[in-house]
Amino acid sequence: MGADWARAHRDDTRFDGTRLRGTAVAAALAGAGAGAWVVHAAPAVTTYGAARNRLLPGLAGRGRCDHVALTFDDGPDPTSTPAFLDLLGELDVRATFFVLGEMLARAPELGRTMVEAGHELAVHGWDHRPMILRGPASTHRHLRQTRDLIREVTGVVPRWARPPNGIASTGFMFAARRLHLRPVLWTGWGKDWTADATPRTVLDTLAPRLRPGATLLLHDSDHTSAPGAWRSALGALPEIYARCVDAGLKIGPLSEHGLL
Ligand SMILES: [Zn+2]
Repeated sequence: MGADWARAHRDDTRFDGTRLRGTAVAAALAGAGAGAWVVHAAPAVTTYGAARNRLLPGLAGRGRCDHVALTFDDGPDPTSTPAFLDLLGELDVRATFFVLGEMLARAPELGRTMVEAGHELAVHGWDHRPMILRGPASTHRHLRQTRDLIREVTGVVPRWARPPNGIASTGFMFAARRLHLRPVLWTGWGKDWTADATPRTVLDTLAPRLRPGATLLLHDSDHTSAPGAWRSALGALPEIYARCVDAGLKIGPLSEHGLL
């Protein structure tokens, strides 16, 4: 399956939905001129999919060939996350939610509800500022604070970390290791963060990546997306689920994914 996977992802050179932030990152690196930034940034593993999926399948989120991991970023959000919980409950599907500490701090009860429903909470960061713009100490602090909050709120120690915008800086990788958090990005996304995203566009974008061992990225919050964009992900979920079932694939959280 490795060759198939590589072929399928050869054209995957798309960047995360935050080109502006990527530009800001480049500008900051160019402007800072300080060696420390360069050391911190390189060799950053970014969201560029082709090389990452091929060379670092575990980091990309490739797992068991009979399983698809379902992950959501940027919540928990009282406006939108409950709708995802309701639908996932109806489908009898559990997922992994990469939460922001600042969001969980505002909605701890929702975080507890998610875990009680069988979902996993994982670390996305305290806020959504790219970690490549932080120093190593700040990166570590933000990951630690988010990890600790998840543990305090839910009683469960998180296992996974995913940096904002998928930019896994060296500082992020070191901090995650020290905090016993395994970095996991994704193999496919639905571009569900844009203003013109619909369930159909999400499904069409995701479909080529809906493969055995995939880790799917969707958003249960529009915290960093276009207002209301989460509805496109929510609307696409039943069909994503149906296609997995039709293909004989189980769909679930990262803890059941058998990451490579
Ligand atoms: Zn995010």
